[in-house]
Amino acid sequence: MKLYEEVKDALTIGISGHIRPDGDCVGSVMGLYLYLKKVCPDAKVQVLLEKPADIFSCIKDIDEIHTDFVTDVEKFDVFFALDTSKERLGEGEKYFDGAGKRINIDHHVSNSGCGDLNHIVPGASSTSELIYDLIEDKSDLDEDIARALYIGIIHDTGVFQYSNTAASTLKAAAELISYGLDFSRLIEETFYEKTYIQNQILGRALLESILFMNGKCVVSMLDKKTMNFYRAEPHDLDGIVSQLKNTKGVECAIFMYQTDVMEYKVSLRSNGQVDVAKVAEFFGGGGHVRAAGATMRGTFHDIVNNLSSRIAVQIKTE
Ligand code: AMP
Ligand code: MN
Repeated sequence: MKLYEEVKDALTIGISGHIRPDGDCVGSVMGLYLYLKKVCPDAKVQVLLEKPADIFSCIKDIDEIHTDFVTDVEKFDVFFALDTSKERLGEGEKYFDGAGKRINIDHHVSNSGCGDLNHIVPGASSTSELIYDLIEDKSDLDEDIARALYIGIIHDTGVFQYSNTAASTLKAAAELISYGLDFSRLIEETFYEKTYIQNQILGRALLESILFMNGKCVVSMLDKKTMNFYRAEPHDLDGIVSQLKNTKGVECAIFMYQTDVMEYKVSLRSNGQVDVAKVAEFFGGGGHVRAAGATMRGTFHDIVNNLSSRIAVQIKTE
């Protein structure tokens, strides 16, 4: 796909990403936004996205996001859905559906492409790396675009640790930091640093985790009451499932938090043996081989039983 060719005649361009936007979603959306504002100075470019967490306030123009999804544009000439298929755009979906040209850019294996134009690369580290690749003339990059894309890449690769990190990812990161990024501070402040609330709720989730399937799986759940007690919001729970996955001997970690009566947001992480995207897809969710999620209904025990049966068929028994 030739990115600039697709947008150069547009007068209105919209960009959205998935609900509960994570680092890659925010980074890719804002990286694309800053780039398009630069190369299409006459176009009205708008981002419609749920409010990003405060840690992303270091990204330029993050305050310009239409977090209420209100816009004066009736029909966008071009609309981008990033880091997701259209089903998880939330309120952004109607603008995507109504747009003149719909473009979907994503790296989720579960996304078969929902746009008139699709750039889906399941092997890619992040949507942010894809945006970096699509910027043909690298002289259009600048420090602000680089910061947004770099943040996206570090978040989806766990700071270049996960197996989705490729030579191309490191090459992109190398060029991005050459714009003078204080990468050490960015990594510390957007990835590792936790608030007191986040650490407390992490501790609670670890304390209440349960090992099963001979120690190959671990599960933990937080209900609404417990979240309220700690005053924790859903975005405070990022990272809990990764810590569960770090348990020695564990192949698959499950973390879930209650979103409604008999409804939970489920996160799955794998150390390689289990393809958790397959498990999540079976229950209407999706994601990647080693990181996936779904929203599931039922009691905690029903959900764990249902997930276990799909995980068990993949786990090798000695
Ligand atoms: P999470 O557990 O929310 O961090 O999600 C892990 C990965 O799975 C991310 O790449 C998400 O975009 C993806 N994912 C999470 N929930 C869903 C869902 N309900 N449908 C499709 N993909 C999802
Ligand atoms: Mn992503």
